[in-house]
Amino acid sequence: MPSMRTIQISRPGGPLELVERPIPDPPAGHVRLKVRACGICHSDVLTVDGTWPGIQFPRVPGHEVIGVIDALGKDVPPRWTVGQQVGVGWHAWHCGYCNPCRRNDYFACHTGIKVTGIAFDGGYADFMIAPATALALTPAGMPAVDSAPLMCAGLTTFNALRNSGAKPGDLVAIFGIGGLGHLGIQYAARMGFRTAAIARGADKAALAKQLGAAHYIDSAATDPAVELTKLGGAAAVLATITNGSAMASTIGGLAPRGRLMVIGAANDPIPVPPLALIMGERSVTGWYSGASIDAEETLAFSKQTGVKSMNEVYPLERAKEAYERMLSGDARFRVVLKMAD
Ligand SMILES: [Zn+2]
Ligand SMILES: [Zn+2]
Repeated sequence: MPSMRTIQISRPGGPLELVERPIPDPPAGHVRLKVRACGICHSDVLTVDGTWPGIQFPRVPGHEVIGVIDALGKDVPPRWTVGQQVGVGWHAWHCGYCNPCRRNDYFACHTGIKVTGIAFDGGYADFMIAPATALALTPAGMPAVDSAPLMCAGLTTFNALRNSGAKPGDLVAIFGIGGLGHLGIQYAARMGFRTAAIARGADKAALAKQLGAAHYIDSAATDPAVELTKLGGAAAVLATITNGSAMASTIGGLAPRGRLMVIGAANDPIPVPPLALIMGERSVTGWYSGASIDAEETLAFSKQTGVKSMNEVYPLERAKEAYERMLSGDARFRVVLKMAD
């Protein structure tokens, strides 16, 4: 029986083990992908540490997957065919019949969404099985290692920005220049926003400008709210950092009806003065990543406008080292596994 390599977690806390397994056949409604690349996202700790409620082991992590369809299960819609290159992100399946799904609020599915690499095995492998509902077509000519991080980090920043209410020409600030922020700056600039980048220290100013920011705000030396107000007030601030009280430091710099879009999973609260919300009708909004059509549109927009993730690339067999590199926070900026051709 032909076998494949997977990086498996056998129990909560790991370790990441390289394991040979038989290549599975796709059940009804699913496809098999020959994986070309898979990004390592910080949310993979939910799989490795087993902190996602109800997760079962063994499990293969990975929800930034790019692969080629190499087998179809029964009843896969005809738009999907063998040979297509597709992406699979975090949000793989929702029921489609509960009340939130009937309102197109798929992220709130009452039946429970299926998350790639948590509800079923993900992309740290030579092959994976994916529900057809998870598939996003990738644009022609976009290398798999470039596309992979866009399936989660790219999708989340792109989708939050295009749903922020900001219009071309508006001031939009990206708070944090890391895995999410370096993509957020590129998307905001290419969407036609007057883009400001906020980070600690003067040393990131050059990179921020290179990525497309028109303004750089050093949050260690200045008050971001004051600086944003001087620039006319932000229609939206995209908070990619993981510090709730630092996020709050921008609220006073929002324009009337401006929104603080929260995508950084901070553990500490965001202290919000009610008057700052009331005067100016400002708001603080969380943003969930998106479904497969959002991922497909993220990839297409990235190809069209030249948005590119800065990646450190490792072969699959060095997944443990790659994962630790992601955890260190020192990677510039996303870590991606590339499978053998
Ligand atoms: Zn992710
Ligand atoms: Zn549902």
